[in-house]
Amino acid sequence: MVELRTNEGVTGIGEIHGRPMEKIVEILRDGFASTVIGRNPLESEALYNDLFACTCSRQGARFHRGGGQPHFGGGAKPQMMAAIAGIDIALWDLKGKLLGQPVWRLLGGGKSTAPAYASGGYYGPEGEAAIDALVEEMASYVALGYSTVKMKVGGLPISADVERVRAVRDSAGAGVTILLDANQAYDIQSAIAAARAFEPYGIGWFEEPLHWYDSVFGLGQVSHAISIATASGESELHRWGCRDLIEHAGIRVMQFDCTRAGGVTEWLKVAACAAAHGVVMAPHHDAQIHGHLVAAVPNGHILEVFPNPLRDPLWEELFTGRPNVTNGVVHLSDSPGFGFGLNAIGMQKYATRVC
Ligand SMILES: [Mg+2]
Repeated sequence: MVELRTNEGVTGIGEIHGRPMEKIVEILRDGFASTVIGRNPLESEALYNDLFACTCSRQGARFHRGGGQPHFGGGAKPQMMAAIAGIDIALWDLKGKLLGQPVWRLLGGGKSTAPAYASGGYYGPEGEAAIDALVEEMASYVALGYSTVKMKVGGLPISADVERVRAVRDSAGAGVTILLDANQAYDIQSAIAAARAFEPYGIGWFEEPLHWYDSVFGLGQVSHAISIATASGESELHRWGCRDLIEHAGIRVMQFDCTRAGGVTEWLKVAACAAAHGVVMAPHHDAQIHGHLVAAVPNGHILEVFPNPLRDPLWEELFTGRPNVTNGVVHLSDSPGFGFGLNAIGMQKYATRVC
């Protein structure tokens, strides 16, 4: 969590999803703080540009003087983009509080709701298929009112995963959309074979099918060869990477996460690029932040939530005033900013104040 306080005592809260946290904190405290302190929080775009400029070698040289290697904070690209995310999200929270508006409205949105899917469907403790538990878990999400559920694939031979997907489809019935997340498990040929095997089961999207090293050009070949929509973007750091996923990887669902890289300011640019290509936005987790964005943009598609508290204890314990999720819909409040605060007990349990 990042807190930005104004001289008038208003506090904006940002959230970072990244690691190692020690490096991100170092970048925030020793690098970015001096750029942010004293600035007008309403000038979030200008501030973003100043922070982002530090990611280029000359401007960012001060991040790693001692090592004689000025490039991008000594190679800490994801950590710098994560640090920017924390500051930028806190700035948008501050802007909302200063102007007395929820972020979804500040962005020009006209509604305070966003559809959500229930995410889970992991393998058993030893990586086994765990079909009975999987079916039971997915059925529990459907019983909560979710019409879209997500499960993992790619951890077992394709035939075993097909059995898992078939079991969920048989149990859930035709009205439920099943999303599959492969977490970069396959090479090109296996991804195409897997997708074709999954196709009969009414799959909403096939997420990050390819190993990290061929996740753009190779994914383009996969997208071209299969009928299921491909989804990706959670591993991207900026609009240019997302542009390449759209133009060269043929994805139809963009999963760029503002908490991981660049914050709201970068996310909006990714969303605009996606909209121009008919690609929809479906960020991961942090509905208390991403909900505002999905609700506001015209191509906001769906949000990920984890109904199982073991999967997302922070969602359960860290926040006050977080949005309600009922029947697969996230309901945002009218409270200024992102509308959430930090729960003192949750903070005591999970947080360490570092500066
Ligand atoms: Mg994923």
